[in-house]
Amino acid sequence: MKERLKILITVKTYPIPSGKYGELVCTAGLTEQGQFVRLYPINFRDQPYSKQYRKYQWVEIEAERHHGRDSRRESFRPDCDTLVILGEPIPTLRGDWSERARLVLQNVASSVEQLREQQDKNGTSLGIVRPRMVHDLVAEPTDREWKKSFLAELRQSRIWDDRPVSKQPPRKVPYNFKYVFDCDDPRCKGHRMMNEDWELGSLYWKMIDKGCAEEEAIAKVREKFLTQMCGPDRDPHFFLGTVLSHPKNWVVIGVFWPPAAKQRETDRRQLNLF
Ligand SMILES: [Zn+2]
Repeated sequence: MKERLKILITVKTYPIPSGKYGELVCTAGLTEQGQFVRLYPINFRDQPYSKQYRKYQWVEIEAERHHGRDSRRESFRPDCDTLVILGEPIPTLRGDWSERARLVLQNVASSVEQLREQQDKNGTSLGIVRPRMVHDLVAEPTDREWKKSFLAELRQSRIWDDRPVSKQPPRKVPYNFKYVFDCDDPRCKGHRMMNEDWELGSLYWKMIDKGCAEEEAIAKVREKFLTQMCGPDRDPHFFLGTVLSHPKNWVVIGVFWPPAAKQRETDRRQLNLF
């Protein structure tokens, strides 16, 4: 049964090509009550411009629970034709993140360990966590091309759908960017989690398109996603989600990085000394 959901979009992951949907993006957000919702699948690039919402924008959309493939607790199958965008993204004028924070930080998990516990208990597959310390963002080389089966499927489906075959699939980022961090939990042994944020991949390609070498593009991504977003003057939180095909595998799907309160900033600077 379809229901009409009002969601504040907070997460968009980097697209992957898909035979059935052209491109798959994981979009997630929160209801007004702070409940996490995942909209999946959405074929983002094939949506007309008027339906391309941005992060921190409220939207309304009709969606229903999945019956098949994606049985994750927070997942809904959206009917993209019913999407209505409600106004502009919530601003951060003069560094004021308070309205975003009020909405986003309603249900912060105390640690990754706690999220995993909730997953075992009730199937939780989305959440937000405040890392105790972010140590690094490492770039590990990975495949330079999508799996051949992805691309073959994509080509095939475009012939069937009468969509232009010439449209390029999303570009494959040849590095996995992984956060190295730990949480404030005695059970924590540290984490190394891939960051799948759409903006990270697009920043990488923006630098390459400007003529940068790969090392320079990597340096730019680290400057933005580590030095700036996780700097001592920030209070970074990670949106986390599980991977559909590997439910025990949690990844970072977005970063929320409001300015740090003064005390927190001092604590973080001290932590940085060690
Ligand atoms: Zn941990």
